Amino acid sequence: MTRRGCMPHGPLPRRKSHGVVVRWADTVVRVGGDAPVVVQSMTNTDTADAMATAIQVRDLAFAGSEVVRITVNTLEAAREVPAIREQLDRMNCPVPLVGDFHFNGHKLLSEVPECATALSKYRINPGNVGKGSKRDTQFGAMIEAALRHDRPVRIGVNWGSLDQELLARLMDENGRRTHPWDAQAVMREALVTSAVESAQQAVAWGLSPDRIVLSAKVSGVQDLISVYRELARRCEFPLHLGLTEAGMGSKGIVSSTAAMAVLLQEGIGDTIRVSLTPEPGGDRRKEVVVAQEMLQVLGLRAFTPMVIACPGCGRTTSTFFQELADKVQSYLRDQMPIWKRQYPGVESMNVAVMGCVVNGPGESKHANIGISLPGTGEQPVAPVYIDGERGPTLKGDRIAEEFQALVASYVERRYGGQGPA
Ligand code: SF4
Repeated sequence: MTRRGCMPHGPLPRRKSHGVVVRWADTVVRVGGDAPVVVQSMTNTDTADAMATAIQVRDLAFAGSEVVRITVNTLEAAREVPAIREQLDRMNCPVPLVGDFHFNGHKLLSEVPECATALSKYRINPGNVGKGSKRDTQFGAMIEAALRHDRPVRIGVNWGSLDQELLARLMDENGRRTHPWDAQAVMREALVTSAVESAQQAVAWGLSPDRIVLSAKVSGVQDLISVYRELARRCEFPLHLGLTEAGMGSKGIVSSTAAMAVLLQEGIGDTIRVSLTPEPGGDRRKEVVVAQEMLQVLGLRAFTPMVIACPGCGRTTSTFFQELADKVQSYLRDQMPIWKRQYPGVESMNVAVMGCVVNGPGESKHANIGISLPGTGEQPVAPVYIDGERGPTLKGDRIAEEFQALVASYVERRYGGQGPA
């Protein structure tokens, strides 16, 4: 019940959508309906290299990707998909695989039926299924493959490969308007129309609406927000959110988060992928961590305990608290594969690591467990707060180890005793 005058809080209710099931063996991932927002990712290995691809899929899945997409671009790649699936099953990694098809998907799915059955979902780009009279035949062949193998699809439009015939048609219609829209607005309309009309066509060919997920990716934050608001208004298919070509490093993270957070807050989006360009030699799993953290800080899902740390300032010139915050965050993440089975609910825990007495005790009291380290000129002691109460005070060279031990015993006490999930 909302109290009168109470400040509005939290995301808007999720937009109503059909629930789509993506499965492999006993693993069932629900997208849309009342399911939580699903995290997914994509490999960047050569799919024809089955072992390298299986290893990367496993790494992404173990990092928390609930569905992993792989490119299926050639006959060699398609023929290796069953081997990738078998290798994953041998590695006890039942994550559903999505095949990403462009240009020749109709051929690959019909010429390599074992590829079609090893995949749990097909991504189809309506801008890349063929031109002119070939478009319907080739798009139809992919929908037929989905029907034959009982698989859901994502109809994924991208502004880098927008259906040019549709765009030309909408440009012509725009020219006849009394007050024509600008070119960017027509492009956004073309993205939405391409996604919705393609989905309607798939339904007309017999694919059930609860077998279709839609996406319409662009690389501009404001464009993405406009396009998805409109998609959400015009259909009830679950929506896959993602900013395409988001870029590298902080720019990619900020752009993806800025765009997706607005939409998720409005209840729009059923699955997300953060398309980060990895730094040379960088870790592909970063896109999974960013996606999880985005959902967690928005309060939509919880994956791993969060560390609340102050930025530091002139009151603490030591790097000790930064190192401690980093160590604690890595420790929590490393423990999660075991903790999530033994300690249900631990993923919602907050741990504070603060640099001095100004905000340290206050912030630590708000966390489940927190430590307020000594700033410059303060007494060299670090009080620990547990569930808002003052706990032990740590000092000396072993503060990090002792605090870690306190966190471990807090987790056992607070979240233990409920048995494995
Ligand atoms: S808690 Fe202390 S060290 Fe950290 S930012 Fe605030 S004043 Fe600076």
